[in-house]
Amino acid sequence: MAQKLIQGVRGMHDILPDEAERWELLEEIIRNWLRSYGYRPIRTPILEFTPLFVRSVGEHTDIVEREMYAFEDRLNGDSLVLRPEGTAPCVRAVLEHNLINASGPQRLYYNGPMFRHERPQKGRQRQFHQFGVEAFGYSGPDIDAEHIVMLARLWRDLGLEEDITLELNTLGSSDERAAHRVALIAYFEAHAEQLDADAQRRLHSNPLRILDTKNPAMQALVEAAPKLVEFLGVDSLAHFEGVQALLREAAIPFRINPRLVRGLDYYNRTVFEWVTDKLGAQATVCGGGRYDGLVEQLGGKPTPACGFGLGVERLMMLWSELDPDMARSVPDVYLVHQGEPAARFAFRLAEQLREDGFAVVLHCGGGNFKNQMKKADASGAAVAVIIGDDEAAAEEASFKLLREGGEQRRLPAAQLGETLAALLYNVEEEDGSV
Ligand code: ATP
Ligand code: MG
Repeated sequence: MAQKLIQGVRGMHDILPDEAERWELLEEIIRNWLRSYGYRPIRTPILEFTPLFVRSVGEHTDIVEREMYAFEDRLNGDSLVLRPEGTAPCVRAVLEHNLINASGPQRLYYNGPMFRHERPQKGRQRQFHQFGVEAFGYSGPDIDAEHIVMLARLWRDLGLEEDITLELNTLGSSDERAAHRVALIAYFEAHAEQLDADAQRRLHSNPLRILDTKNPAMQALVEAAPKLVEFLGVDSLAHFEGVQALLREAAIPFRINPRLVRGLDYYNRTVFEWVTDKLGAQATVCGGGRYDGLVEQLGGKPTPACGFGLGVERLMMLWSELDPDMARSVPDVYLVHQGEPAARFAFRLAEQLREDGFAVVLHCGGGNFKNQMKKADASGAAVAVIIGDDEAAAEEASFKLLREGGEQRRLPAAQLGETLAALLYNVEEEDGSV
């Protein structure tokens, strides 16, 4: 009896070859872009101890309260979690390996899967991917602006500058936020009858999140609430003005959104989101900002820091729409062969062509020439190289250009690489003829 298929876990997606090739291309573009700004890679494990996120992201955030894949290690009882975000692990690694003290300020990036137990929908998964950038040891507004400016360049490079816009806010310092928080709680308490259940739950744990409500019935209330900007001191105001001045200098348009708060507790001063109206409710492609307190909070010396996380699935959805038929990657050569001596010769010839720099698919699984040629054609290869026992005995190779037609040609195997390079890539042959 046939076995029932075991399916993948809900909200965790397979990325099949057509799509995965596109992912690799995007990742390559992103890596080159990061390198061009002097950012270096760091890779941390997917599992961390649960307290790392409780202490950094915050006990009363959505992520920690209900989205973490946390579990007990059956072997030793450790409380572990599949990382829901990349900043805290990056800070942990930087501290554990003493990177800042040993080598000074750091510009770092990472790329990989993150895990949050959310309700799956378009643009929202339980395993998703982020590129993240973190800069440690820079306190001025220039690094905040650098992050924003570099993202603007990425959107431009990808042809998405019309689709993604910038929202900017400042969260001030923790003292300024504390004063605002007191005022906010007093205000919401005075209007307790207008709060929905979510807001009531958050009133004393996370009143700032109430400002982020999507409930239309609460919009007027939220609109009239005390504003953080009324509690900001000169340093915070000057930092925010500094970021804006650099953005104006770089001609990057932005909208100041005083209600922009991020869903993670560690942010202070600058916060930003790049948003789109093309992905329905999942509007944020990239979010980030400053988190000057986090390094100390996780046990390091006070160290200013700033960074962002970029959702790869959401960016990919926008980018794929521009060019849905993006060419898949194809081999240069498909090598067909028939007969025992031919198979051995073809195996060797394939390696020789790869040595010459060609991408070569060697036919496997037998079959007659006609069927093999069909496979060669379907592979998208530019040329089929054909080895029969005749060719093998004479150390020769036949080939046929598959895309532009033309006759089959035969030549000594030793000349094949050079001839194909000339035909496919206009690389000159040694005697100068093309
Ligand atoms: P959202 O408001 O959409 O829940 P967030 O504020 O929780 O996003 P961050 O923690 O700032 O997101 O993560 C940075 C980026 O990662 C987001 O802007 C988004 O592009 C992406 N992202 C976050 N959660 C998911 C998810 N569940 N599925 C896919 N992408 C996600
Ligand atoms: Mg979220």
